[in-house]
Amino acid sequence: MPTGSFRSRIIDARTTWNNADTELHFTFNSTGARITIDYLMLEGSEEGLLGVARKNWFPPGELHHGSIEFNSRYTFYVGTSSTWPDGHYDLETVALHEFGHLVALEHTENNNHVMSGLGIGDATMRRVLANHDRNSIESMYGAEWGC
Ligand SMILES: [Zn+2]
Repeated sequence: MPTGSFRSRIIDARTTWNNADTELHFTFNSTGARITIDYLMLEGSEEGLLGVARKNWFPPGELHHGSIEFNSRYTFYVGTSSTWPDGHYDLETVALHEFGHLVALEHTENNNHVMSGLGIGDATMRRVLANHDRNSIESMYGAEWGC
């Protein structure tokens, strides 16, 4: 897994999904589904592919292994400011989107949604779940209860 600020932004994205008040939580431990994170050249990738989430469900319905790969063809902004240099892509925005794919959320056609499939430009910042994103994950994994 990448280190430093790169790792911190991924953890921020994970925390955003964890705070969605559903029964789904990403944790650091040695049991359960394993998720790996990489930053590497995605050979032959289509123009604009910033990252990809891969998942292996086994048995059906249970995530066994997943990965998120960030395409090193692109330069990512790994800070927390709301502005950054042209030509950099906001890592937290991409990570939040790819975590959504990892748990089987699909694209929407609304640019206000984290799961928008309309593309992420170098000025796009989506670090907060839209109601639609929350409702989608809650419908799949159930609302958190008890507290
Ligand atoms: Zn996507």
